[in-house]
Amino acid sequence: MLNREDRRQFASDNYAGICPEAWQSMAEANSGHVTAYGDDMWTARASDLLRELFECDCEVFFAFNGTAANALALASLCQSYHAIICHELAHVETDECGAPEFFSHGTKVLLAHGEAGRVAPDSVDHLVTKRSDIHYPKPRVLTVTQATEIGSVYAIEQLQALHDVASRHGLRMHMDGARFANAVAALGVAPKELTWKVGVDVLCFGGTKNGMAVGEAIVFFDRELAREFAFRCKQAGQLASKMRFLAAPWVGMLESGAWLRNAEQANRSAALLEQRLQQIAGVEILWKSQANAVFVRFPEPVADRLRALGWRFYTFIGAGGARLMCAWDTTEADVEALVSDVRAIMEGA
Ligand SMILES: *Cc1c(COP(=O)(O)O)cnc(C)c1O
Repeated sequence: MLNREDRRQFASDNYAGICPEAWQSMAEANSGHVTAYGDDMWTARASDLLRELFECDCEVFFAFNGTAANALALASLCQSYHAIICHELAHVETDECGAPEFFSHGTKVLLAHGEAGRVAPDSVDHLVTKRSDIHYPKPRVLTVTQATEIGSVYAIEQLQALHDVASRHGLRMHMDGARFANAVAALGVAPKELTWKVGVDVLCFGGTKNGMAVGEAIVFFDRELAREFAFRCKQAGQLASKMRFLAAPWVGMLESGAWLRNAEQANRSAALLEQRLQQIAGVEILWKSQANAVFVRFPEPVADRLRALGWRFYTFIGAGGARLMCAWDTTEADVEALVSDVRAIMEGA
């Protein structure tokens, strides 16, 4: 047995496997010979389904992972002398090893502030207006993460306010949607309300954390911006020759509605986890969970004891504390198993 550990963990939503709907359509795609490099029915169908989902004639590309999707999408919006504004906790800043700067050939990332992982419009305004001379890179793109790295979401009005400041300063808007489905599930609105209707030019829509093996969709709402993007993907090593296997899971997930059900399940589990941990004295919830993350501060020995019991979680993400992520397959029983260990340790301590 290679898989000795079958307990569901809370370390990351990509600890989870592939959901049945994605797996099923991968299996269906695995028949016969099919045209390579995206010129196939699965890729066409997945792109059409995304156009239906967003209720617009967007241009769609598929990449292997979120870092590449973000970096290439951002690079397509900038020249090397431009700057990208993101939140100081944004994945593009903290977890992509400089990929956005690398793929854009030196575009500087400027860090904005804001409560609860959300970029504050004032902070964007400040970053753009503090300098306008030729010695400073020109801000060109605002990127926001929906849902954010700390499990909050931007409400429609908050996105609108950001779009107002972005358009006032001629900034394009990019959305890192590694957990876009969780944000849609949290807000209960149509995907268009969180994207092109509030001025998002490009969305990187995460499939992996939503239940696929691999794959993110890069959705250009402004088709003109997608011109030559295919070349950029190819050059970066992101053009899958057997593209049908990146595309097919999207077909299964979108046709069945699993993309949203999976996100709802993850969010529901996180809400339960937050509620149950709140009942334990001495456990501090750091941020109000709106999507599928719960950030808590355990007294130091408690974190160690949990690890000794086999639980895994990260403590370097966001602004400290333990990050507990729920995935598409996290169950109530998983939540109760973790909570009961936390309770036993806290009450014994
Ligand atoms: C997981 C994640 C990504 C994508 O990461 P990869 O490991 O490159 O697939 C991008 N943005 C955010 C906010 C994420 O959580």
